[in-house]
Amino acid sequence: TNEKCYRKEFITVFGSPVDENPTVVIMDAAFEALGLDWIYNAFEVYPQDLETAVQSIKALHMKGANCTIPHKVAVMKYLDHISDAASIIGAVNTIYLKDGETYGENSDGKGFTKALEEEQIPITDKNYVLLGAGGAAKAIAVELALAGAGKITVVNRSRERGEDLVELLRAKTPVKADFVLWDHSYELPADTDVLINCTSIGLYPDTSSPDLVYDSLRPNMVVCDVIPNPPQTPFLTEAQNRGCHTLNGCAMLVNQGAINIKLWTGLDAPRDIMKAALLKEFQ
Ligand code: NDP
Repeated sequence: TNEKCYRKEFITVFGSPVDENPTVVIMDAAFEALGLDWIYNAFEVYPQDLETAVQSIKALHMKGANCTIPHKVAVMKYLDHISDAASIIGAVNTIYLKDGETYGENSDGKGFTKALEEEQIPITDKNYVLLGAGGAAKAIAVELALAGAGKITVVNRSRERGEDLVELLRAKTPVKADFVLWDHSYELPADTDVLINCTSIGLYPDTSSPDLVYDSLRPNMVVCDVIPNPPQTPFLTEAQNRGCHTLNGCAMLVNQGAINIKLWTGLDAPRDIMKAALLKEFQ
């Protein structure tokens, strides 16, 4: 008998636009290191086709998928199950198939908290300042809050989005949360433990930095950026120049991918290999 299996497991990312999504780089590196002959490929999916795309996960017995712009919120209504954190965040970036049913998870914020853990930075009872209140900020804020953060200050340019995030944190998590309207050069409170840029400021080809009083950064603060490309943003350089411990957006992206790999394969992801592949791609 021929027991060879010619079928390859398939994982995809649904997005639009999706051509420039670099996730395949870390997934290919991970699959190779794990000895899995799996395929990861992006699919351009328009909003009106999202339901069909999600149904195809079941129909084609795919292991799962990632969801990116503009589908992270809309996809939720097509899934059989949503994790508690993803339902608080109100967005799903990862889908996995289990016993024929689709499960939605949000690994963006968990990737960030994992990256802090990797650097042995304790989360509990610390004071966080988040710049931005969009999807990345929301995912990070909710996971920090669920992991026991002491206080989260949301600094955002538009009042409505910032206040909405603070209200969500107060209503759904035990964290203390405050909003600051970002209409001035923001000075960090001296008791800040961790500052995180969750805006798109500094994303290639933008070379600008968030509007802060940089001399209010102190060497005991941890400063993080969600921007993965370039890994070393001018914002992080400003922080390093003032003696801060910094964490770049690649760490979050890789840890997010590692969480997804665990969900899809059950295996521990080779994070160092994934990180090296990503840094090589963005160098
Ligand atoms: P959103 O569009 O949902 O939110 C963008 C946020 O940035 C908003 O709060 C917006 O403020 C703020 N913002 C944008 N430009 C400016 C500016 N010039 N001045 C002040 N505030 C500004 O985006 P996402 O949250 O989805 O993504 C943000 C970034 O996070 C992206 O660059 C993405 O690459 C990165 N990301 C990284 C991940 C990783 O794993 N490393 C994962 C997910 C995202 P306002 O409300 O006023 O418009």
